[in-house]
Amino acid sequence: MSETGALDSLLHEDRRFPPPEPFRRDALISDPAIYDEAAADPEAWWARWAAELDWYEPWHTVLEWTPPHAKWFVGGKLNVCHNCIDRHLEGPRRNKAALIWEGEPGDTRVMTYYGLHRRVAKFAHVLRNLGVEKGDRVAIYLPMVPEAAIAMLACARIGAVHSVVFGGFSPDSLADRIVDAGAKVLITADGGYRRGTLIPLKNNADRAMEHTPSIEHCIVVARTPSTARELDVRMSAGRDLWYHDLMRDIEGGVPCEPMDSEDNLFILYTSGTTGRPKGVVHTTGGYLTQCQATTRWVFDLKEDDRYWCTADVGWITGHSYIVYGPLANGATVFMYEGAPDWPNRGRFWHLCEKYGITVFYTAPTAIRAFMRWGEEWPAKYDLSQLRLLGTVGEPINPEAWMWYHEVIGEKRCPIVDTWWQTETGAIMITPLPGVTETKPGTATRPFPGIEAQIRSEAGEEVKAGYLAVTKPWPSMLRTIWGDDERFRETYWSKWPDTYFPGDGARTDDDGYFWILGRVDDVLNVAGHRIGTMEVESALVDDHRVAEAAVVGKKHDVKGQSIAAFVTLKEGHEPSTDTADELKQHVVEKIGAIARPELILFTVDLPKTRSGKIMRRLLQDIAEGRAVGDTTTLADPEVVRRLQQRYEEG
Ligand code: ATP
Ligand code: MG
Repeated sequence: MSETGALDSLLHEDRRFPPPEPFRRDALISDPAIYDEAAADPEAWWARWAAELDWYEPWHTVLEWTPPHAKWFVGGKLNVCHNCIDRHLEGPRRNKAALIWEGEPGDTRVMTYYGLHRRVAKFAHVLRNLGVEKGDRVAIYLPMVPEAAIAMLACARIGAVHSVVFGGFSPDSLADRIVDAGAKVLITADGGYRRGTLIPLKNNADRAMEHTPSIEHCIVVARTPSTARELDVRMSAGRDLWYHDLMRDIEGGVPCEPMDSEDNLFILYTSGTTGRPKGVVHTTGGYLTQCQATTRWVFDLKEDDRYWCTADVGWITGHSYIVYGPLANGATVFMYEGAPDWPNRGRFWHLCEKYGITVFYTAPTAIRAFMRWGEEWPAKYDLSQLRLLGTVGEPINPEAWMWYHEVIGEKRCPIVDTWWQTETGAIMITPLPGVTETKPGTATRPFPGIEAQIRSEAGEEVKAGYLAVTKPWPSMLRTIWGDDERFRETYWSKWPDTYFPGDGARTDDDGYFWILGRVDDVLNVAGHRIGTMEVESALVDDHRVAEAAVVGKKHDVKGQSIAAFVTLKEGHEPSTDTADELKQHVVEKIGAIARPELILFTVDLPKTRSGKIMRRLLQDIAEGRAVGDTTTLADPEVVRRLQQRYEEG
């Protein structure tokens, strides 16, 4: 890494998309003055948002900042579950759909706010009867069923700290996370559906529980009809309990526990794209304040929206934008259990049509898969109810953005490209759809009340370098569970009192932020530091390419040369000519400096279970090393196949 930390910025993008007039006219926020208003006094600004929540006791101090530890709304008492459910029961939202759910096999459920409240309050009672007390940790390892949200909210209701572990994780990964958090109760299901097959969650949980002495009880949701037969579910007497038995036998619910604004709400482990996952700790008042604010404004959320975030509740996006943010706003949330290509590649679009989805939030990895599958799938369905699209998780290549805009949004829907992290808790950099003129590939500007900069290693403000968050924000992580030293070291040691997210970025003439990729992945070619994003975007710019990942490969003269792993759209075949044309295309788009020395075609890239490309493994392959830690990989086979192909030349 060079001393300055500056990045060369290569790609030029001048397509601009102002908010469509009909959208702007009806938008909750259409006045750009909001940015100045927030910047004038960010603490007062966040306090106004916090005041939209119900508090049992008011805070006495908005922010106590003893870097790197922040406390927000100090002295205030509230309950997240009350704010997400109970307070909506007073008015017309009582009988409004809170959750609309569809399982992969096509079964459906709808829960009103009243119905959700009843289940959550009862389940909170169940947990309390099992000895779960305020501050105790509860692990949740469930498929995308309503009980996942019910379990989270029930924990919040009694002040237990949940740790949701994505249902796709292996027994070992589950055990690691349970042990790290010291969870007392594990909530799982007999199984879950994925592409037509049953995932044996309880069997996985049993294997995990061989190594988790802290677990006293395991509560099992009966998700599948063939319970205990096809999956061979075994219940260990005394330890394991069926959810439906507990819910049948419990009498009534329990009230919400008043929590301190800074009491822990949950622990969540990061995706593990760059290394060993970190147990990120989020607290109560600040977290909910920023979730509520960003959900409402970024998604322009109105009373009659049908909102769908396709993330899994096992990720932060599912926490903040399936459960806490939307329910705090009294929204109707749609939740789907399964895969986008089951029973066919039109499933998501079928669901959009069937449920009249108006706001749709997904990840670039999904958009690139849709691109690869072709326009004919969305074309079969009526997507005219959609009015706003969002993306999160990785930088979105401009051509993927354009495809999303034209094919899914039918040029009518603004796109909000939202940059944030497990650690930030809520959206940080994003367009406001009724205000911001968007450009494909940029998350644009910090949300009002958030302050960010691009800095050099030395801490000077530069045009291209490291992304930095320069002021504390309400939903920021408070620490890493059990490892405050790692918290300081990872995020706060680069510059004084400033948060270092680990991403490279640049600005443009409008002051927009372009995320250029992970700092760990930055290429260094003949003294030029190049973010992965721009070279990948130049490749995806070719009409044949659906997805690309580039890595630096040791080179005697240049330091590094560029190796590109490329996935083609359906109907295109790999060939030496195509490889040469793609190399040339990169040269034309951004210059000879970025010419890939090697292009390897592949049908799959190694990704985390949340769908992010793991470039460090590709670099191991390109440099002929044994590949590093693959435990967070969705499909370890992909790496083996690639390695084999690579060695064959
Ligand atoms: P780990 O920290 O364990 O390596 P991770 O960083 O993948 O895992 P997450 O918190 O899920 O864990 O991901 C946050 C990261 O995702 C950001 O730091 C950034 O690299 C990327 N990201 C998220 N949204 C965007 C976006 N809109 N544009 C660009 N990058 C994004
Ligand atoms: Mg990260």
